[in-house]
Amino acid sequence: MKVGIVGAGMVGSAAGYALALRGGASEIVLVDRNEALAVAQAEDIAHAVPFAHPVRVRAGDYDALDGAGVVILAAGVAQKPGEDRLSLLSRNADVFAQVLEGVQRAAPDALLLVASNPVDVMTEVTLRVSGLSAERVIGSGTILDTARFRSLIGGHLGVAPQSVHAYVLGEHGDSEVLAWASARAGSEPVARFAAQVGAPITEDVRARIDEGVRRAAYRIIEGKGATWYGIGAGLARIVQAVRDDQRSVLSVSMVTPEVEGVKNVALSLPRVVGGAGIVATLMPELAGDEAQALRRSAELLGETADRLG
Ligand code: ADP
Repeated sequence: MKVGIVGAGMVGSAAGYALALRGGASEIVLVDRNEALAVAQAEDIAHAVPFAHPVRVRAGDYDALDGAGVVILAAGVAQKPGEDRLSLLSRNADVFAQVLEGVQRAAPDALLLVASNPVDVMTEVTLRVSGLSAERVIGSGTILDTARFRSLIGGHLGVAPQSVHAYVLGEHGDSEVLAWASARAGSEPVARFAAQVGAPITEDVRARIDEGVRRAAYRIIEGKGATWYGIGAGLARIVQAVRDDQRSVLSVSMVTPEVEGVKNVALSLPRVVGGAGIVATLMPELAGDEAQALRRSAELLGETADRLG
């Protein structure tokens, strides 16, 4: 499958690199308004191909996206000093209007995978501007937060994160909800598994994991300015679920008719991802405080989208 990536900055190029290493595409086309950057990133990624999987990697204009099955949207502008979040969001919405015009002219049948932040609101903007059906506009959402959650629970229990089934729901951001009540290791609720292996999940452990998930992006940004490898790998994972019609359960963002009484906001829930995009959504069992936190997260996202207009 041909995969387009618009925005060849850190996130877009990391997604391209992860796709090349994982063998997630037959062709990767990088598009950026900074053409020299797209050309350089494509050449650099192409040099990893002999060590990875056969994939053609090149830079191009929007026309080069013709025939793409998925287009990753990773374009965006950086926050200006003193600029508030809403103003940044509004400038990024303008970027998306321009980008989507080019993408849809060249690749009207492509499924859109939104990576630019704030990803949930940008997913909603993309749905509105593109006119596609909701299941074909996927936001990377909490795919990475979920990965961090599983990795920390797995570390505590001494099992591989692949054997942990736990999700981060709602906003990809401060109001996200770690769904402890439905978290499993193997087929066991994590608390029972933890007791069996003699590593109980105390209040302290839970607080440490919670902080570890929630503050991860802040810590990484403090050390290196931005985050890109984790999200790049997460984007490649979503593309593979689509390309191979895997029907994998992934926590990704999508405009959702109703969540905890809040209507039509984009947020993350566990969703079945396949060739047609998001083919089903699951609602995990939630504790009372988790359901409340999810409603609050949905309300906050709805308010931001309303203020954007
Ligand atoms: P991130 O860390 O999110 O990847 P970057 O600033 O590294 O952020 O990358 C964002 C990329 O989006 C930049 O390379 C920038 O040139 C690109 N970009 C911004 N506006 C547009 C646009 N209108 N069309 C195409 N690409 C754009």
